[in-house]
Amino acid sequence: MSRRTVRTICALALALIAAACSRPGPGGSGEVRAAIENLRETGLARERAYAFLERITSAGPRLTGSAQAAAAVEVTRQIMEELGFERVHTEPVEVGHWVRGDVERAVLAAPPSGTAVPLAVCALGGSVGTPAAGLTAPVIEVRSLDEVASLGEAVKGRIVFYNRPMDRRTPEPFAAYGAAADQRVGGASAAARQGAVAVLVRSLTFRTDRYPHTGMLRYDPGAPRIPAAAVSTSDADLLSALLKKEQEVSVTLRLDCRDEGRVVSANVVGELTGSERPDEIVLVGGHLDSWDLGTGAHDDAAGCAAALEAVALLKDIGARPRRTVRAVLFMDEEFGGTGGRAYAASALRAGERHLVAAESDRGGFVPVGLAVGGREAGARTRVAAYADLLRPLGVSFIVPGGGGVDVAPLIQGGAVPAAVMVNAQPYFDVHHSALDVASSVHPRELELQAVILAALAHILAQEGI
Ligand SMILES: [Zn+2]
Repeated sequence: MSRRTVRTICALALALIAAACSRPGPGGSGEVRAAIENLRETGLARERAYAFLERITSAGPRLTGSAQAAAAVEVTRQIMEELGFERVHTEPVEVGHWVRGDVERAVLAAPPSGTAVPLAVCALGGSVGTPAAGLTAPVIEVRSLDEVASLGEAVKGRIVFYNRPMDRRTPEPFAAYGAAADQRVGGASAAARQGAVAVLVRSLTFRTDRYPHTGMLRYDPGAPRIPAAAVSTSDADLLSALLKKEQEVSVTLRLDCRDEGRVVSANVVGELTGSERPDEIVLVGGHLDSWDLGTGAHDDAAGCAAALEAVALLKDIGARPRRTVRAVLFMDEEFGGTGGRAYAASALRAGERHLVAAESDRGGFVPVGLAVGGREAGARTRVAAYADLLRPLGVSFIVPGGGGVDVAPLIQGGAVPAAVMVNAQPYFDVHHSALDVASSVHPRELELQAVILAALAHILAQEGI
């Protein structure tokens, strides 16, 4: 081979390399690329995240402060120990303990005969009970808190029935939920200020069925505390139709829910300690507590299972990231986020820096994308270098976003938010209702979520933000 031929070949090779570099496409480090492929093969071969979910939901409905929530703390601590996570421990969280009680019943006295028609209802979380014999009052239907305020005296002595549905025209279900949730959260106090004796709130779901959906309410300190219940969408439609026909429709409501003071619960923490910068943390987490009508499978045993599986998969493939990847299972998201605040404020955080806080609390559904960071594009750009490997797992977009109730204090402290985005269209079918059980979660969809979470954590633990 002549020197000229060698020179030509060298020039050609350099040109090819230059062309490859300028082309958008596979990027990042070879080690991370191999790890992502390994995570995918290891995760999908076994679908173990679902087994974690089943162990969590087997503890039962995990209402904040309940014995079942305490059992879930113990079960997940055990799972972390079994998997060989490092620095496994629990951190105390003081939480409220509201109980639903044995009775929740609403009966409509249907005119003209007064035939008793039962309505499918459930107490809203935090509600006071009714007198033991129940309370009976005429119902007035409204669409908003503003409407209640404008009605004034007309509300006095009545049961206010909030019946504004989630807006189906809103494509993003969380946005539709957010736009209707004020009725559930603030409806009781708004009605009580005008003299109402109780409230019924249309369940927050797109479906028409007889499953009521619970959720937290918030009493204003300045208003009397009146009982509040969610009514199923099907029965809300029935009640509304009757109110259009009749002058007066009365409902008897009986709830024996009550507040039982405060108890000490816990967040559960375990990690894969970083090899070079152990005090820099990439956090993956979900919340252990749930509502009590189902077993909180999507909300949020799925998020806890995904976090456990993400760290477990990194261990399986023998990864030892430069920075720490930590799973945190928070207590008490549903009653106000005390676990997230306790974690951020703990003395154990001294000397730690949380680079990333990835919370999974959107249900265990099939992944569709990733949300990473805000205006600062650093972390998002690093993740996007591996987009070609994430795409087959379902990641069709990587956009700004992420965050959640539990990690909000960390994000306020400078952590980059992140989240696996899922197809949330079916989420509110089951959310906070008796339908949120393990059988409504698909093992493979959940595993894909966990694999993506593991990949995200590995990329950012290796490369920083
Ligand atoms: Zn949740």
